[in-house]
Amino acid sequence: MTPSQSATPQGTQGGAQVVTRFAPSPTGYLHIGGARTALFNWLYARARGGRFLLRIEDTDRARSTPEATEAILKGLSWLGLDWDGEPVSQFARAPRHAEVAREMMANGSAYPCYTTPAEIEAWRAAHPNQTFASPWRDADPATRPDAPFAIRLRAPRDGQTVIEDAVQGDVTFRNDQLDDMVLLRSDGTPTYMLAVVVDDHDMGVTHVIRGDDHLTNAARQAQVFDAMGWPRPVFAHIPLIHGTDGKKLSKRHGAVGLHEYAAAGYPAAAMRNYLARLGWSHGDDELFDDAQAAEWFDLPGIGRAPARLDFKKLEHVSGHHIGAMDDAALLNELAAFLNETGQPALTPVQTSRLTPALPALREKAKTLPQLIEQARFAMTDRPIQADDKAARALDPPSRSILVELTAAMQNVNWTRDDLEAAAAAVAEANGVGLGKIAAPLRAALAGRTATPSVFDMMTALGRDETLARLADVTG
Ligand code: GLU
Repeated sequence: MTPSQSATPQGTQGGAQVVTRFAPSPTGYLHIGGARTALFNWLYARARGGRFLLRIEDTDRARSTPEATEAILKGLSWLGLDWDGEPVSQFARAPRHAEVAREMMANGSAYPCYTTPAEIEAWRAAHPNQTFASPWRDADPATRPDAPFAIRLRAPRDGQTVIEDAVQGDVTFRNDQLDDMVLLRSDGTPTYMLAVVVDDHDMGVTHVIRGDDHLTNAARQAQVFDAMGWPRPVFAHIPLIHGTDGKKLSKRHGAVGLHEYAAAGYPAAAMRNYLARLGWSHGDDELFDDAQAAEWFDLPGIGRAPARLDFKKLEHVSGHHIGAMDDAALLNELAAFLNETGQPALTPVQTSRLTPALPALREKAKTLPQLIEQARFAMTDRPIQADDKAARALDPPSRSILVELTAAMQNVNWTRDDLEAAAAAVAEANGVGLGKIAAPLRAALAGRTATPSVFDMMTALGRDETLARLADVTG
């Protein structure tokens, strides 16, 4: 998909509609922090009947790649975060950014600066620890040379810029510490700081929810909003995610890319729940679905302390969602997992065999690969090949017990109770424990020793398939 240039807000109702955005720089995969930022914006907008927009901040041409854009869109789609309209390309909007810079120059809130990099360096050397003050700020326009110039913001010199942050509270920046930043470089390219403000304004963004590493940027961006007389959006700067040891998240903590979680087999529904709790809370609620998250999610619930990754908790949340979601949702998650890990999709026959097994399987599985592992018995075609360990359970005495069991099961109703009763009767008649029956039964039905309960397998497989598998090893 190609991000488009249009940034016209659609469907805004008198400015009252909530509009959020996710604005990733396409320089790599979607990392877990970005996914959480996207989720917060998505939840906030969706819960309020608002719009959730996507802007690809691809102005750094050397580092931005189409592959990274694709990876980010794919990650968001996997996570189930649908965005409104086409993704906007920030780079494609450079002419608009330049137009605003010129408008600011015309209205006096910005000025042309002809200082060369060498002159700036010399100024800095002569004024250690001071913010750069361009001599062109107050120069007589008549003295402006016919030379390339950058456009700088005429930032307020006195007073303070206060960000009334929905998470951090009021954050105050001294204006004498913020220089007259460049808006448009002398080569005509806009700076990031200008681009973000123009885009957020043009896209009608009402709430900017992003990592608190952008808090200082907010002060500079607020100055541009103010200079243009545009209302500032609500800023909500969320604390970053830390690793399990409480330190800043890095590769050494493992799993920093969202795709790594997808490949590990955590369902997207569980990731949404888990990520929502990374930095946000609603009382003691740990487990919730999308509807509850949408109902509860609000900015005051976001904490000021960094959230910590906790893989145990994630497993727990994942197991809960696998157990709680309906069959169709679970099959969808399985399909997404197989796709993500490059495995073949389930065939219709496999799906029809797997579906009746889901009630038993979903109770125990914490992740999708665990579920698939337990479901192999249902998805394997006859004749079942027993592995070495399972084959040892199919010795002649055991096989004759299976023959008896086959006979005993001919007329049962094929309910779990009836099957258990039949197996218990055969065990008793042979003076053996149930385990002596279960082991060869596992081998016959699944060809392996680690399987779900034999009764779960038999009810899932049904009468014909079960008896056929038994006949294969006894016949
Ligand atoms: N492109 C920035 C980033 O990926 C986000 C900027 C913003 O949200 O304002 O960190």
